[in-house]
Amino acid sequence: MSVLLIAEISGAYIALSATAKALSAVAPLGPVTILAAGDGVDPAPLAALDGVAKVLHVEGADYGHQMPESFSELILSIAPNFTHIVAPATAAAKAILPRVAALLDVMVITDVTKLESADTFERPIYAGNATQSVTSTDPIKVLTIRTAGFDDAPAAAAAPIEGVDPTTGSDLSNWVEDRVVKTDRPELTSAGVVVSGGRGVGSEENFAIIGALADTLNAAVGASRAAVDSGYAPNDMQVGQTGKVVAPDLYIACGVSGAIQHLAGMKDSKVIVAINCDAEAPIFQVADYGLVTDLFEAVPALTEQLK
Ligand code: FAD
Repeated sequence: MSVLLIAEISGAYIALSATAKALSAVAPLGPVTILAAGDGVDPAPLAALDGVAKVLHVEGADYGHQMPESFSELILSIAPNFTHIVAPATAAAKAILPRVAALLDVMVITDVTKLESADTFERPIYAGNATQSVTSTDPIKVLTIRTAGFDDAPAAAAAPIEGVDPTTGSDLSNWVEDRVVKTDRPELTSAGVVVSGGRGVGSEENFAIIGALADTLNAAVGASRAAVDSGYAPNDMQVGQTGKVVAPDLYIACGVSGAIQHLAGMKDSKVIVAINCDAEAPIFQVADYGLVTDLFEAVPALTEQLK
C-alpha cells in the first residue's frame, strides 16, 4: 500500500490537527507520503508526525488558494505512484478530490469514519442514521476522512522533505478574494470544547451569553440551523448535517432541541451537556449531563462559577 495524504493548507497555514487526524486514520495502511502544497508554507511540522515516510513540498499561489483545477492537476501528476489518495473531509478537499477521482475515472468515497481494510471503508449515510460499508475495486482509492472520530497522530522523528515542481496550473478558474471571518476563539471543528446555542437563545443579542460561557472555557461557539436561520448566529457556526461536524471533548448545547440533523454534527462528542427547559427534548437522549432549566439562568450562573 502507498498512501498520499493531502495536507489541509490555506496559504501558509497548515491545519495540523485535521491533517494529523487523517494521518492516524490511514496510518494502518502503511507508510504515508504527505503532499504539502501551499504558498509560503513550512512543511516541517508535517514531517514530524508519526507514520509519515516523506513529505512532498510544492509552492504555488493556486495551491495556497486551494483552487480545485490546479490542485487536482498537481495531484494527478503524482497519483500513479499511490494506491490511496486521501484528505481530511474539509471544504477544500470536498472540492478537489471528486475532481481528482473523476479524472482518474474512479469513485470518490467521502466522509470515511473507519477503515475496515485497504479496500473497505465505513461512512455515515442518512444524516448519520445508518452506516454504510463500501468496498472499492478501483486501482486507486480516493477518500476523504471525517476526522472528528480520530486522534491526532503523535510527534515523531522528522521524515525527509522533498521538493516537487509545480504543474503548469489551470486557467479554468481564477482566485479573486477570500473573505475570512477573524475570531480569537478556537476553530469550531478542532476545538476541544464547543458551546452551542439554539433557537431557545431567542435573539442575536442573547447569543452574547453563549459567547461569554465559551470564553471562560476557551471554547468555540456553535449554533443550530434554527439559530442561524433566525439570524442569531453566523452561518459558519452551524453544527449538523448541513453544517460542521464536531467531536470535541465537551459539547454544551443550550436551547437546542436535538433534532436528528443537529445530532449528526455533534453526537460523537466525548461528553455532551444539554441545558433545555423541556425535559422531553431529544437532546437529553444523547446527553451525558442534562440540566432541565431556563438557559437564561443557568448559562450566566455557570459562567460566573467558572470565572
Ligand atoms: P428548536 O427545535 O426550536 O429547539 C429549541 C429548543 O430550545 C427547544 O427544545 C426548547 O425547549 C428550548 N428552549 C427554549 N427556550 C429555552 C430556555 N429559555 N431555556 C432552555 N431551553 C429553551 N439543524 C441543525 O442544527 N444543523 C443542521 O446542519 C441541520 N441541517 C438540516 C438539514 C435538513 C435537510 C433539514 C430538513 C433540517 C436541518 N436542520 C439542521 C434543522 C433541524 O431539523 C432542526 O429544525 C433544528 O436543528 C432545530 O434547531 P433548534 O434545536 O435550535 O430549535
